[in-house]
Amino acid sequence: MIDLRSDTVTLPTHEMRDAMQSAELGDDVFCEDPTVNKLQTKAAELMGTEAALLVASGTMGNLVSVLTHCRRGEEVILGDTSHIFLNEAASIAHVGGIQPHCVLNQPDGTVRLPDIEAAVRGDNEHWPRSRLICLENTHNRCSGAVLTPEYMESVALCAQTHDLAVHLDAARIFNAAVALGCDVKEFTRHVDSLSFCLSKGLSAPVGSIVCGTHDFIREARRNRKVLGGGMRQAGIIAAPGLVAVEKMVERLKEDHENARILAHGIAEISGLSIELEQVQTNIIYFDLAAHHVKPDELLQRCGEKRLMFLQTGPRRFRMVTHYGITKTAIDSALTILADVMANT
Ligand SMILES: *Cc1c(COP(=O)(O)O)cnc(C)c1O
Repeated sequence: MIDLRSDTVTLPTHEMRDAMQSAELGDDVFCEDPTVNKLQTKAAELMGTEAALLVASGTMGNLVSVLTHCRRGEEVILGDTSHIFLNEAASIAHVGGIQPHCVLNQPDGTVRLPDIEAAVRGDNEHWPRSRLICLENTHNRCSGAVLTPEYMESVALCAQTHDLAVHLDAARIFNAAVALGCDVKEFTRHVDSLSFCLSKGLSAPVGSIVCGTHDFIREARRNRKVLGGGMRQAGIIAAPGLVAVEKMVERLKEDHENARILAHGIAEISGLSIELEQVQTNIIYFDLAAHHVKPDELLQRCGEKRLMFLQTGPRRFRMVTHYGITKTAIDSALTILADVMANT
């Protein structure tokens, strides 16, 4: 099976399984799991923050962070195609009573500074208080676009002017760093908190990490507890997380290379279209021309030939490259896709 639905379908490496087997464990609610502590220290060091906290998922990482920045009735400014707004079950509103204030995401994953400025609330008893800006890097819905450190700095300055905090949904921040050939700290130094995923392209089975100051992480720990996320011998999942951050980052460039090959191949297939200049990391979106094969038929016929990907719009599809997807698999995927398009 060539599964390009997401980089979350990756399985742990042998080294990760061995690390789980031999992990030193303790009760992390007492802060006594040495493997969790080691991962948190390592993550904080990598991200250039004072402290870090292991959480169950990216959704929990974002929620814990937003809960830590904002009180009920306050507002978060975020992009209208951000993962937090679209794909996290309205968690910040549902659990936190925190209102999302959406601003238009540009195709490159940014939101324009004037749009942010316009969304900031003044001091008026009718209005919610603005508290936080959320950015997403890389931007999932915007073809895995990379927000540059320069752009992030400009948002940080804008936030400072209005006394707002900045949280980064950094689910795929290592993809951004590898794409620009820079250190992740180039991005993270412009934000107050961030949450990154161990379980996407880095191939760990479970987990995300929230990073911030000591004070922020102390409060985030309380909020994690509120959500039922205090875990006991969590070293079992921290152990493969350590392998993920130490061994799986450099190879992300293979995923980016494979995504480029895939995108160029798709551009050659009659009836499919793709914006090649949008492809910067491991996520590609493409469109199916009108009056061609029906979208569900395309998915079904490819599925029969053991190629899987996601439909994300009426005639729009997403493919994500990841660990376990080789160049050969990319060639096969293109052959299957071309064949189905030509013969349906
Ligand atoms: C996957 C993802 C998340 C959430 O991660 P889960 O572990 O699936 O909850 C958050 N933000 C972005 C941009 C993502 O792609």
